[in-house]
Amino acid sequence: APLVGVLALQGGFAEHVRALTAVGARTRLVRRPAELDGIDGIVVPGGESSVLDKLSRALGLAEPLRGALQAGLPALVTCAGLLLVAEELVGAAPGQRSLGVLRVRARRNAFGRQLDSFETHLSVAGIGGDVEAVFIRAPVIESVGPAVECLAAVHGQVVAVQQGAITALSFHPELTHDLQVHRSFVGRL
Ligand code: GLN
Repeated sequence: APLVGVLALQGGFAEHVRALTAVGARTRLVRRPAELDGIDGIVVPGGESSVLDKLSRALGLAEPLRGALQAGLPALVTCAGLLLVAEELVGAAPGQRSLGVLRVRARRNAFGRQLDSFETHLSVAGIGGDVEAVFIRAPVIESVGPAVECLAAVHGQVVAVQQGAITALSFHPELTHDLQVHRSFVGRL
């Protein structure tokens, strides 16, 4: 079975471990650079992107993670994880940086008050026609680079993209019982 690293600094990593285990993957929590060695893929969970940014830099993980993603390590990045790896952020917290690997401009907390958090079903290209998706103060993708494919939209706004081996989602697939996203990711490793 493939070994999937789960960035475990903050946020929804335990739920990703549960979902990955349910689809037959082995998992490893990643908190140190050496824990990136030998994994077949990585999940960067949601949570709070400015905290993920600070902790990953403080622990010396930001550069090794950037390097691994640039070298083609397959990745599933969700919500705050998407913001951590994006090239450009709109509405970043003061001093917040991002890894610049995913060629998108992402707007943080993009859905506004009324839609702050919501659950819906989405058609996600390459994954499924009816994917359960939980949005929690989610980002949207405002523009994409040439090698980035849009996979899903909500209210006309892009919420899922693929760039090479990186699948990036604005929503939380790990907070549902729907395993399609994790099954698809692990199936490609
Ligand atoms: N709003 C959060 C951020 O800016 C993301 C929320 C989430 O991951 N559910 O990082």
